[in-house]
Amino acid sequence: MTILRGRKVVLPEGMREVDIEIRDGRITAITDSAHAPHVISGVIDAGDLVVLPGLVDSHVHVNEPGRTDWEGFVHATRAAAAGGVTTIVDMPLNSVPATTTVDALDMKRRAAARESHVDVAFWGGVVPGNVGHLEPLAAAGAVGFKCFLCPSGVDEFPHVAEDDLEKVMPVLSALGLPLLVHAEWPDALREPVGARRSHATWLESRPAAAEQQAIDRLVRLAAHHRAWIHIVHLASPAALETITAARARGVAITVETCPHYLTFAAEAIRDGATTFKCAPPIRTAEDRDGLWRGLINGEIDLVASDHSPSPPALKCGDTGDFIEAWGGIASLQVSLPAVWTGARKRGLGVEYLAEWMAAAPARLAGIDSVKGRIAVGCDADLVLFDPTAMWTVDPHQLYHRHAQTPYEGMTLTGQVRTTFLRGQIVYDARVGTGAPRGKLLNGPRARVE
Ligand SMILES: [Zn+2]
Repeated sequence: MTILRGRKVVLPEGMREVDIEIRDGRITAITDSAHAPHVISGVIDAGDLVVLPGLVDSHVHVNEPGRTDWEGFVHATRAAAAGGVTTIVDMPLNSVPATTTVDALDMKRRAAARESHVDVAFWGGVVPGNVGHLEPLAAAGAVGFKCFLCPSGVDEFPHVAEDDLEKVMPVLSALGLPLLVHAEWPDALREPVGARRSHATWLESRPAAAEQQAIDRLVRLAAHHRAWIHIVHLASPAALETITAARARGVAITVETCPHYLTFAAEAIRDGATTFKCAPPIRTAEDRDGLWRGLINGEIDLVASDHSPSPPALKCGDTGDFIEAWGGIASLQVSLPAVWTGARKRGLGVEYLAEWMAAAPARLAGIDSVKGRIAVGCDADLVLFDPTAMWTVDPHQLYHRHAQTPYEGMTLTGQVRTTFLRGQIVYDARVGTGAPRGKLLNGPRARVE
């Protein structure tokens, strides 16, 4: 048995001074420290560090197998451990094959099982014509599904049309699993016109209207089929009115945004700075503030990284061509301090981080019986976090496969000191990552293999 004692432990009901009792990797008791005997062997004292639940990042592109040179399980899960993320949910595309069949899921699982430093769960993919694979994928452990409404950026993961979704939604409704949707409506996207080194050219080609038009259709689909749709990486807060109104009518629709939309603003992106390229694009400072308002008032459910790196050459750093560059941002390891830096600036407490980045994404992935909370019965996934430490991001010191991120050179507040996975240290700031202890999680109720 181990006791983790903290003065600032973030429980679901708020921050408290407690002792967390850990046996066999699980939290077995949470008791008032004041009533505990002063001397117990096996006590880890977190002192003034904040104790957060291990984060769950529900949107990570690992790309292995097939594009392991973009990002693989070893690098991604090391970065996760160092970033306080104890569970990642892997996206079904950018690996080859894409996770659209059980065979492909098996390949993913074998790749992840070799060496993962945090726990890994998997989304399955919905592409035209694979509706017959969804039930088998769910039975094989996929925690839900992901699709695109516009071209995904890779040929092996084509986007779906409304008639594909009409066939898919009843199946997902029966399974009770969410459909995660890249919500940009293709007819509202435009050919980029203008200087190719200017982020504005990219931004103007992917207007907020594309998000709005996609979300209008998705709300109708979710309502009609009584199925759960989750909007990934919302960049435009304008669509929140539609989403909130639908939820008020009982439509099962949830929504996430990403650290980069909460941190950066299009006006400040320099010409040629293609590390900032993603889709939907980073919008204006006003949009950023709107996303923060949406998070604070509960209209946005969660924050996920959408970690989607590529080899540096594909980011076109040499030409700075925003149209040619791969659209994806590397951020897994810096998500927590990036969001905390913004939250703190807005006077928010660390409790918000636990909800947005641990509890809510665990519910999305159906793993909330064991992940995302410091509670009796949950895995002892814990993060010792210094909320006041300031540090400057040096991409070469990140565990991501490639040292490329728009956070380069930024000073962030908040530093992960120690990460525990099922009660064992998987990262410590003084020594780095340890032995790989990650396991594979099966959906929908998180059975560990
Ligand atoms: Zn993504």
